[in-house]
Amino acid sequence: MLAPLVHANRAGRRAAALTVTLVVAIAVAGAAPPAKRKASLVVTGGTVVTMDPQRRVLSPGAVAIDGKTIVAVDTPQAIAARFAASDVIQAAGTVVMPGLVNTHGHAPMVMYRGLADDLKLMDWLEKYIFPAEAKTVSPDMVRIGTRLAALEMLQSGTTLHTDMYYFEEEVAKATKEAGIRGVLGQTIIGFPVADAKTPAEGLARAERFIQAFKGDALVVATVAAHSMYTVDAETLKATRDLAAKYGVPLLTHLAETRDEVAESMEKHKLSPTAYFESVGFWDTPGLAAHGVHLSDADIAILLKHRVALSHNPESNMKLASGAAPLTKALKAGLVVGLGTDGAASNNDLDMFEAMRQAAFLHKLIEGDPTVASAQTVLEMATIGGAAAVGMADRLGSLEPGKLADLIVVSMRSARQTPMYNPISHLVYVTRGDDVRTTIVNGRIVMRDRRVLTLNPSLVLADARKLAEKVRAAVAPAPAQSSVAR
Ligand SMILES: [Zn+2]
Repeated sequence: MLAPLVHANRAGRRAAALTVTLVVAIAVAGAAPPAKRKASLVVTGGTVVTMDPQRRVLSPGAVAIDGKTIVAVDTPQAIAARFAASDVIQAAGTVVMPGLVNTHGHAPMVMYRGLADDLKLMDWLEKYIFPAEAKTVSPDMVRIGTRLAALEMLQSGTTLHTDMYYFEEEVAKATKEAGIRGVLGQTIIGFPVADAKTPAEGLARAERFIQAFKGDALVVATVAAHSMYTVDAETLKATRDLAAKYGVPLLTHLAETRDEVAESMEKHKLSPTAYFESVGFWDTPGLAAHGVHLSDADIAILLKHRVALSHNPESNMKLASGAAPLTKALKAGLVVGLGTDGAASNNDLDMFEAMRQAAFLHKLIEGDPTVASAQTVLEMATIGGAAAVGMADRLGSLEPGKLADLIVVSMRSARQTPMYNPISHLVYVTRGDDVRTTIVNGRIVMRDRRVLTLNPSLVLADARKLAEKVRAAVAPAPAQSSVAR
């Protein structure tokens, strides 16, 4: 996973050596010091957690950005000497780190947050989620829901989200309005849904969507086959072909529950992973969400086809789906990113919480506190997530030449004091609300908690209004248990 980065870094070192040579040459020639280079933004004085190939932490450090690109990461003095910045963020008392990459979600489902909890998966789906979706999914709902999700994400440090839903062009528009990135998959499913009566209609819609956003600075438009149990073999192949045609990552759900595996074994005599392989679904680069019930043979199949995994610990725990074989997958060399899944089964989009839960879950389930270390889960939420969506050459770490997606996280609260190790703090005590500033593609989308893209009060008002429709669309919530009898 890191080989290309190490390679890139060698090139970077050569470039750095060349720069040093030039500077020395100028100094020897006795010329005036070189004019400072222009930077659109410098973030300086914080502890910079780079997540670069050496996993360097600069304390204090500074990041210089010009336009959409990181141009230097160095000490505050070195950056001040080299760059004249038109804007400076003083970051003392914070950690400056790559923006978080959420590798699996259904943004508009924030509208079903807390609608019904503590139910068996089938009761939850059939009595609440499916009826709510049947009656409320529309372009409006998707737009209002995604704005709400994007607001929550940029406020909690997520700079890229991966999505699978309907009317995905509305997800894309709202994502761009918020100024964050999206790897957004138009969902293909084997039964009539709000935006397509048939899978063929869904595929045509997906192709139009991919074409409409081709080359977009923030959105990678793609296609998602819902799962191996909701899409037939022919449609799976057509979905794969569409992703291959446009060179976009193929998204799907994989081996989320025991029932899915049992059904696949009964129907195909193959695990879901092996079934996907048997129909050639893995022949184009893909990202599979969950992978809770994977055998060693399944992991080998994913590795062979370079399929990345999105690990969603909170959703898997809440729905009692199980715990993915994270340590085995990482040891085997799979690319693993972290995800929240939709807010209907989480119930929030806070990637800091996802990191903490991932660490705790695997320590508990594997009976070993040394697994899923803070460093490991921080990698999954940054550089691993970027690799999982095929963008590790551009995102996931703070390095010159990469796109400027970074966040500034306050470390000054009582909960975070004292701070001996920033990596430990990012995973074990930090919450999404600790994010002060969020920068995506070099643009500040939230500065000192003030959102500069969306209008938060309008976004919340629209969502509250829509929630009345959602409430009316489903059965009354399950009775709250009461202690008084
Ligand atoms: Zn999902």
